[in-house]
Amino acid sequence: MSKKIESAYIEGAKKAIASPTLQKSLDNIQDRFGKGAMQLWKELEDQGMRDRVKESRMRTLAHLDIILMELAQKVRKRGGKVFFARTAEEAVAYTLEVAQKNQVKSVVKGKSMTSMEIDIDPALEKAGIEVVETDLGEYIIQLAGDTPSHIIAPCIHMDRHDIGKLFTDKLGIEPTTDPPELTMAARKALREKLLSADMGITGCNLACAETGQIALVSNEGNIRMSTTMPRIHLALMGMERVTATTDEQRETLQLLTRGAALQKLSTYVSFNGGPKKEGDPDGPEEFHLVIIDNGRSKILADLEFRESLACIRCGACLNICPVYGKIGGHAYNSTYPGPIGAVITPLLDGVNKHADLCKGETLCGACLDVCPVKNDLPRMLSALRYKLAYGDNRWNVRQHNVKEAYVYAAWQKAISHSSAYRRMIKTARLLQKPFIGKNNMIKKMAGLASGWTDDRDLPPIAQRTFSEIWDEKYAKRQQQTPAIKEETNNEK
Ligand code: SF4
Repeated sequence: MSKKIESAYIEGAKKAIASPTLQKSLDNIQDRFGKGAMQLWKELEDQGMRDRVKESRMRTLAHLDIILMELAQKVRKRGGKVFFARTAEEAVAYTLEVAQKNQVKSVVKGKSMTSMEIDIDPALEKAGIEVVETDLGEYIIQLAGDTPSHIIAPCIHMDRHDIGKLFTDKLGIEPTTDPPELTMAARKALREKLLSADMGITGCNLACAETGQIALVSNEGNIRMSTTMPRIHLALMGMERVTATTDEQRETLQLLTRGAALQKLSTYVSFNGGPKKEGDPDGPEEFHLVIIDNGRSKILADLEFRESLACIRCGACLNICPVYGKIGGHAYNSTYPGPIGAVITPLLDGVNKHADLCKGETLCGACLDVCPVKNDLPRMLSALRYKLAYGDNRWNVRQHNVKEAYVYAAWQKAISHSSAYRRMIKTARLLQKPFIGKNNMIKKMAGLASGWTDDRDLPPIAQRTFSEIWDEKYAKRQQQTPAIKEETNNEK
């Protein structure tokens, strides 16, 4: 992993921990949505639903090529255009081409993490096209020149005081911290953008091959406007975000909104799948679906990690994760933060480069318990760590810390032989002496072990370890046994 990213992770984490605003917001989101989702799964009437959806997600992934072909065919039949992008660059180039061909001057965006993954805004802006986010949280982030820190609550790191100040600076409103007033100010500013935009760019929560429609869930109504008012609607979709049938799409959406916001269904669910037809009161003149690979085929082909593509991006794993709950989203330096980000960011963007993400999680298993589709993220995190420890050609992983590997190999040997282990403990007991402080704790260790004492003191090796006490007692019993036997014999 590059030192730059490593230090960005550590610096980001430290900054987040030092921010009282963020810590308060993270506590709130974990209490309300994290614990809430856990409770919701316990009380779910249909206890088979999560397993059913997981099965359908995995089945879809196993037949993804056929299902995507069917989706493309259905969308084209509806009059839409479909483009398969192998890379982020191809997706950006296609979007730009559509925009330029149609003399687009302004774009409104909504619900698109994929657009952040492929980093489309700079390309559009460079071409002189105005880009405006329409999800309230994303809009705030855009005004602040910031990046999202949560999958579904992008500006969780800001409070109403930050937002009030921002709106006064950027929108010129009277100073206020009243949430309804702030929402109305954003609504007014966004309404004008939505009414005049030439093109709407959205993501895709779940497409359906059976109907050729994409579904988008929202609670703000901006998606309906972004997809129906501009002349062109272009949807960016990660290639795994598809179901084969409407039944699967319906059930998966029900889990998505429950996992994301404890809702049985979101306020709006929009289905789009082509340009408007004659007689339709509204809708785009052109509909484009861009199906993006950008590294997903490689994940799909590896059975160890395929499961990560079953993710429906609800964000529940962030809301329960003790690590995310302290360091927030910015420390991950990725479009996808939290436990799911710790798995897919290294897989999509390089395991060496993002090694700290998979090493930073605690493997407590809470993300698996809360995930609506029971994604085994702890297993995949362990698999990534294994690759970092031993290297892996398939994923181009170099052995992350060779010295550490030697230490662990030696440790493995030592603990496999009791006499070697005892000798090692005796030696370590002597070596630790200069490091023991007045409080009888080790304050600072040297060399490779120094990281262990960066943030805490460690207890020294005990003067008598458990095995030494055991040995003594066992040896005493051994010595006593013949005497007892002798006594017994004499009595006879
Ligand atoms: S891994 Fe599971 S909990 Fe996390 S975002 Fe994906 S679906 Fe939601």
